[in-house]
Formats: sequence, C-alpha cells, structure tokens
Amino acid sequence: MILTVTMNPSIDVSYPLNHLKIDDVNRTTEVSKTAGGKGLNVSRVIQQLGTKILATGIIGGFFGQFIETKLSEDHIEHNFYKIDQESRECIAILHDGGNQTEILESGPVLSEEEKNAFLNHYNDLLAQSSLVTISGSLPSGVNPNFYALMVRLAHGKGKKVLLDTSGESLKTALLSQEKPDLIKPNEEELQQLIPIELNIHNPESLKAALSTPDLKDVEWICVSLGKAGAFVKHGSTFYSVSIPAINVVNPVGSGDATLAGLAVAIDSHQSDEVILKTAMTTGMLNTMERQTGFIDSDKFDEYFKKVLVTQV
Ligand code: ADP
Repeated sequence: MILTVTMNPSIDVSYPLNHLKIDDVNRTTEVSKTAGGKGLNVSRVIQQLGTKILATGIIGGFFGQFIETKLSEDHIEHNFYKIDQESRECIAILHDGGNQTEILESGPVLSEEEKNAFLNHYNDLLAQSSLVTISGSLPSGVNPNFYALMVRLAHGKGKKVLLDTSGESLKTALLSQEKPDLIKPNEEELQQLIPIELNIHNPESLKAALSTPDLKDVEWICVSLGKAGAFVKHGSTFYSVSIPAINVVNPVGSGDATLAGLAVAIDSHQSDEVILKTAMTTGMLNTMERQTGFIDSDKFDEYFKKVLVTQV
C-alpha cells in the first residue's frame, strides 16, 4: 500500500467568471468545491490506477470533515491526524479567458505537541506501507527539516520516499544525510536548487545541473518539463523523455499526477522505461481533464505507447 502525505490539505474552491470585476461584486452560479492539496491529487490518481493507497496528513474542524467525506466518496482510504484548528480553504478564480487569480489561506499553525503526535501517527502507518509520497508545503510553525525527519523515519522501516516539495523544506531534505529516494522538480524548482543557469534544451546543461553536489546522491530526479516531457537521472544514468502533442484542458495538478505514476510504477518494481512512461502518461492524462488530479485510465494504454524514453 502506498502512503501519501498531505500536511496542509484544503478545500479548493473554484469560481469560473467571464470577467473579474475588481472592487465590485462578482456573481457566479458555477462553483466547485473539492478536497485539495497536492498530496490528495496524488492520492486520487494512484487510486485511479488501481493501486491500494492510504492518505494521511493533518486535518481539523468542519473543513477537515469535508475533506474526509470527499476522499471517502472517491473510495480513497484515509487516516489523518486530527487537530482542533480548522483546515484551510483555497480559492481560485478562473477569469478573462485563461487567467487564474488565487487566494490561498496559510492554514493551521501547529504546536510542538501536534507536530510530535503527528510524527508518531505517521510512524505507525509506515508499518503497513510499501512506499511513501510526500507532497506540498509544510504548515506554519513547522521547521523546514520536518520532511527530512519523515524521510529518516521511513528509511528506518526500509520504505522509499518520493518527495515533491520546493523551497527551504526541499533544500533541507537534500542536505540531510538521509536523502529522499526521488524528487520531482519542475524547471523553476530545479533552478532554485542549483547555482548554475539552466538550459532545458541542452541535455549537457541538465546533466551538469543534476550532478551538482546537493543533487548527485539522490537516486531519482525527475525534472518535469510540461509539454517538453521530462529529463531524468536514475543513479548515474540520464534519460530524456519526450511526449506527443496533446489537447490540454487543465494542466493544474499534472506534476502531482506524474508523481502518482512514478510511485505506482516504482512500487511495483517496473523497469526505468516503464516507470518514466507511466509517469508521463499520468501527467498527460491529467492535463486532458477539467478536474485537477484526475485521469481517465481508459486512455492510459493509448498515450503510454506514445512516450519515448531515450538514454542520453
Ligand atoms: P508541475 O505541474 O509540477 O509544474 P509539469 O508542468 O512539468 O509539472 O507537468 C508534469 C507532466 O505533465 C509533464 O512532464 C507532462 O507529462 C505532463 N504535461 C504537463 N503540461 C503538459 C502539456 N502542456 N502538454 C502535454 N503534457 C503536459
């Protein structure tokens, strides 16, 4: 069973508007409210691939209950650590032909007690898990080394950890003795990790970037490059992965769908080629749907065949 971690899940509210009027009233009849947070997108896609998954993290209040209900409706097993504070709400206004304006709450501020209690909860769940994914940012009040600590606990039980985060918590995890087994930066996130100017069109530049001291010891680095596919390091082997041109409906969450594909294929001990083709297929399928963190698995085989993995 794959354990997915979402430390700061939210209710994601989306309002489509033809035009956003500033300093005025905007009315809408269409609204969608979903269980959000990168780790929950990962969970949905893993579930849609037919792999057993348990979602954990921290939730609280009525919003927390709403998130649990939504996960149960999607047949996703969950076991979150509960706190008294309310989980957060994030609002996205889709307007003026392709613009997206977001208002993101920062969410609960965790106490020392809550952090330690969560770590105990997580440690217990590790026993029943085969692999862990950790996605998204840390809640307020949590030291950036928290994910590094979670990686260490998982490794203590012999479980691999796929970490998809950015900023200080990623940097700290990369500097730690126990490295995550996989990271999945996009171009912008990778650029923040390296001291050299990145040129994604040049494989030598990408190889040099992934060989910098902080990155060279991470077993898997999957740099996702949107419509350009991905550039990947596994140990000392590099791959360029290309994908077909597709009809994109909503690219939000495609990185999370990619992580889900990586998790499922690594967990079932597939070859590098199958792992990367699976990841690109789930990423692409997510962009073809309106719903974030959602794939139509009936289309899987058709797109899987079109992904090209080349060792470089
Ligand atoms: P993130 O959402 O983390 O920024 P990317 O934008 O790199 O991640 O997307 C992850 C994966 O989703 C890509 O590697 C690719 O497989 C797929 N994808 C994303 N955008 C597109 C697109 N415009 N066309 C085709 N595939 C895409």
